[in-house]
Amino acid sequence: MSARPRIDLHTHSTASDGTLSPAELVRAAAESGLDVVAITDHDTTAGWEPALRALPAGLSLIRGAEISCRWYGEEPAVPLHLLAYLFDPDSPELVAELTRVRAAREERGERIVALLRADGIDVRWPEILAGAAGGTVGRPHIAQALIRAGLVATTTEAFGPDWLGERYRLPKEDIDVFHAVRLVRAAGGVPVFAHPRATRRGRIVPDELIADLAAVGLAGLEADHEDHSPAERAHVRALAGELGLLVTGSSDFHGTHKTVRLGAFTTDPEAYERILAEAGGVTGVASG
Ligand code: AMP
Ligand code: FE
Ligand code: FE
Ligand code: ZN
Repeated sequence: MSARPRIDLHTHSTASDGTLSPAELVRAAAESGLDVVAITDHDTTAGWEPALRALPAGLSLIRGAEISCRWYGEEPAVPLHLLAYLFDPDSPELVAELTRVRAAREERGERIVALLRADGIDVRWPEILAGAAGGTVGRPHIAQALIRAGLVATTTEAFGPDWLGERYRLPKEDIDVFHAVRLVRAAGGVPVFAHPRATRRGRIVPDELIADLAAVGLAGLEADHEDHSPAERAHVRALAGELGLLVTGSSDFHGTHKTVRLGAFTTDPEAYERILAEAGGVTGVASG
């Protein structure tokens, strides 16, 4: 490892809505000069094995996931993302919840497509599902269909208010965030709140909720993320300090579905060591 290791703890592969396969992702991570990369696909661990098998020499892999959660303290409930590291992928309760969420995503995707088709927009669900190639399906896959149909030019445009951002947006059936934090801890994992202050993505939760989550086992907050402004990053850091939570920074790389590059934001080795120390030991760090 280099003197100051470069650590990126949030990336996506084709196991969800990224565009690099898990094997390509770990190779790209090594080529980008990262020492540690976490694979954190939405609601699945399907990328873990292929990433492990392809792990280049010198790269450490943290196996994780980004879990679709919801806070029911407001009406309508607020969607949020929980990163979970080094949990037992065979934990029955967690597996059952992730399976349920993935099925609900398919059902919701099909309903979004039905809404689009009712307005005369010629996108087809079987094609979109095939585009996800067995990975967790999400709006980025529908965005690709809108691009292929020539209706929008970019993914960003597809997430605008006229399309998947508002007009054709439907909620997912996510996991109650308190339940998710407890399930991740019970599975030996370390839960970190992804981009908690990203107002540009939609509604955010109050700091009081984050304090309540810390009380039931939340380990950390992702501060350095492209969807946070400098002021939002500073706020998250200060809040983490108050609550005794660790702070991460990560790219949230999605291949060509987003413009951000691997390693664009990184996590301090001290925070990384804390994640390792808090992990339950079933799923260790894998080194290539
Ligand atoms: P879903 O999980 O189906 O609700 O879709 C959310 C996913 O879409 C996120 O995980 C991002 O990968 C992606 N996404 C959200 N907002 C945008 C945006 N404005 N531009 C591009 N991708 C986005
Ligand atoms: Fe995503
Ligand atoms: Fe996210
Ligand atoms: Zn993500």
